[in-house]
Amino acid sequence: MTVHRLSPKILSAMEGAVGQGGIAIDAGDMAKYLGDWSGDHHGGALAVLKPASVAEVQAVVRLCAALGLGIIPQGGNTGLVAGAIDIEARGAVVVSLERLNAVRLVDADNFVLQADAGCVLQAIKNASEAHDCLFPLALGAQGSCQIGGNAASNAGGINVLRYGMARDLILGLEVVLPDGELWSGFSGLRKDNRGYDLKQLFIGSEGTLGIITGVELKLFPKPVRVETAYLGLASFEAAIALFRQARRASADLMSAFEIIGSECIELARLIDADIASPVEAPVHVLIELSASAPVDLRALLVDFLAGAMESGLVTEAVLAESGAQAKAFWAIREGLVEGQAKRGYHVRTDLAVRISDVPTLVDQARRFVTLDHPGWLSQAYGHAGDGNIHFNVLPPAGLAEREARARGTDITAGLYRIAGTLGGSISAEHGIGRTRTRAFWAGLAPTHRRLITALKNALDPQGLMNPGCLLPLTETSS
Ligand SMILES: Cc1cc2nc3c(=O)[nH]c(=O)nc-3n(C[C@H](O)[C@H](O)[C@H](O)COP(=O)(O)OP(=O)(O)OC[C@H]3O[C@@H](n4cnc5c(N)ncnc54)[C@H](O)[C@@H]3O)c2cc1C
Repeated sequence: MTVHRLSPKILSAMEGAVGQGGIAIDAGDMAKYLGDWSGDHHGGALAVLKPASVAEVQAVVRLCAALGLGIIPQGGNTGLVAGAIDIEARGAVVVSLERLNAVRLVDADNFVLQADAGCVLQAIKNASEAHDCLFPLALGAQGSCQIGGNAASNAGGINVLRYGMARDLILGLEVVLPDGELWSGFSGLRKDNRGYDLKQLFIGSEGTLGIITGVELKLFPKPVRVETAYLGLASFEAAIALFRQARRASADLMSAFEIIGSECIELARLIDADIASPVEAPVHVLIELSASAPVDLRALLVDFLAGAMESGLVTEAVLAESGAQAKAFWAIREGLVEGQAKRGYHVRTDLAVRISDVPTLVDQARRFVTLDHPGWLSQAYGHAGDGNIHFNVLPPAGLAEREARARGTDITAGLYRIAGTLGGSISAEHGIGRTRTRAFWAGLAPTHRRLITALKNALDPQGLMNPGCLLPLTETSS
């Protein structure tokens, strides 16, 4: 990739592609596109281009391809691994999808929704609800992240155990390829066995194979009954045992099972001082059952919890008596994520192991931090029903950020090692981006690397799509 300066000729060509309102080149105008939600990552760009139509995305990609400019697709910029931020500032162009943001179609008869890639996830959920449907992808960033970003990062969230990840919820994609050609894979079909499932290549590709401009999504009937309970347990081991029982006892109506180590609760209070935990136990579980017909979920939950309390697995249980109380339970789970961010730099992971290995992962990780990094604070919580634990570690108060970051790199490597020895993954959700490229690549078998490189080079021979993200620059043509 050649690093360009923005000459008047290039600027004028860019304006020709997206119009004057679709381009930002001043530091002030570009700032919000060059730093991510966490505040941890900052980058540079030659320009930020904001196409407002699919044709404009094509024009931008063709122009960049002709000039040999790197392209960084950007959604809501809530990704936490610098996938949409050029931290090496190599003179690429950020292409923000924010102006391509319409819900194109809601077809409640076929349970299908089509939308532009820049549509914010919450807007998609609202449009689905207006048609008595549910789009079940649900995550803390849903008010800002875009459906194209969700597709590109194969987002998960709190309802994965019932409905799956973005990969399971996408029926079709529309993608502008690295040469500017448009591939449309919308068909509305639930079953289609004609050869390779091309959309799956782009889902989770983190902007390295093309720019997603449209998505076709699966909808589900909207739940009319929801029951939520906040539970106290003695250990992560007990919580996983409970999950197994709940899975069988809930008639497959469980939609969320979140585990929170009690050490995380203080952080939720940084966001709202009134947040109070309903239980006192070392481990908290937030469990939700939902149904799209008037099934007596309450009876199901009460019966199941009575047994779990009798056997001593659950030590405390509070059932939400209203929607407001359920919301207050969820505010604890959501608040702790934001609370951690408020503390500034910290080690942030999204590890995945087999569900039965969750207690061992947490145990080993906590021991590692206590023994090797005294003073650092372990925080364990996550979508435990999917074997996904966010094991985050906060630096001791007063430690200079520079030192904290250097030590944080060692801690992250240690946590990845622990997940690795359990046969786990260094990323259950957030992806590889630029911050994990080295660790990801080092852990791959040679055949796996060869396949990834072959796909990348076949689709993006110039290596212009999101250079430095997911694949090390040495493995691409740029
Ligand atoms: C508070 C909070 C909670 C979160 N909770 C979860 C969670 O529960 N589960 C989870 O999975 N993630 C979670 N995340 C991470 C993040 O929200 C998701 O990864 C989300 O899917 C990113 O979407 P985005 O639109 O912000 O993408 P961005 O951050 O803008 O981009 C992410 C990646 O996708 C690429 N990309 C973006 N748009 C496109 C496009 N149109 N075409 C091609 N490539 C594109 C970018 O180049 C980048 O590599 C959370 C983040 C925050 C801040």
